[in-house]
Amino acid sequence: MAEPIPPHLVVLTGAGISAESGIQTFRADDGLWADHPIEEVATPEAWRRDPGRVLAFYNARRDQVRRARPNAAHQALAALEKAGLRVSIVTQNIDDLHERAGSRRVLHLHGEILKARSTVDRRMHYPLPRGGIELGDVCDKGSQLRPDVVWFGEAVPHFGEACDLVAEADLLLVVGTSLAVMPAASLLHHAPLDAPCVLVDPEAEALAPPGVTRLARPAGEGVPALVRHWKREGRLWMPEALLA
Ligand code: NAD
Repeated sequence: MAEPIPPHLVVLTGAGISAESGIQTFRADDGLWADHPIEEVATPEAWRRDPGRVLAFYNARRDQVRRARPNAAHQALAALEKAGLRVSIVTQNIDDLHERAGSRRVLHLHGEILKARSTVDRRMHYPLPRGGIELGDVCDKGSQLRPDVVWFGEAVPHFGEACDLVAEADLLLVVGTSLAVMPAASLLHHAPLDAPCVLVDPEAEALAPPGVTRLARPAGEGVPALVRHWKREGRLWMPEALLA
């Protein structure tokens, strides 16, 4: 007899899942983003205007990512995958904390800060030179290297793949995202109509669109609590006790 197919949990994560690891969220009042308006560091125009400033900004953020450690939310998702459930993570984050926790199926919608790429050919990837990218570090075609991240205003190359994953979800878990950045936020519309969707975010009450269950807790509490139920029963469901 054929083995039953394990249920498929698709997880959409945003900056909030890494907040308890010490990486500031995008809209937090403190930290790197507050000192650097997006348009000055994370757009193609900023790169054309002052690539040195953009590189310095990402080099500083990269140091922060290297110092950070995966937290209980990253670890719980990795443990669920290890326990045999199908877990696919679609992250808006450019850090590598899901991978360091042990998750193997991670799709980075907005790229990865720990990688460098050519400015003339996005397929040409390079290991990071000397731990950071400096002006004058060039690809094999002689063009300046840049961080392998997707800036505001750029196309999101893996978006189609992410839509396909979400369309296969038995349950969609959304963690730590304000759902303000497009097209990532529109992924929720690709979930099957009968698949429950839950948002774990301290601001869930205000942020969750209609039809989405709200779990207004920090990721490091809310995600492990859900995962404990799912691991115990080997199925994906919404434990009412948690939502009360
Ligand atoms: P956002 O800053 O717009 O929203 C962050 C969300 O996290 C908010 O809804 C906030 O309520 C929530 N949050 C704060 N603390 C939390 C916690 N402990 N647990 C759970 N949720 C918590 O972030 P976004 O929606 O991901 O969009 C911002 C963009 O900035 C993305 O494109 C992302 O690539 C980028 N970004 C990435 C990182 C990273 O890689 N870690 C960090 C900052 C920004």
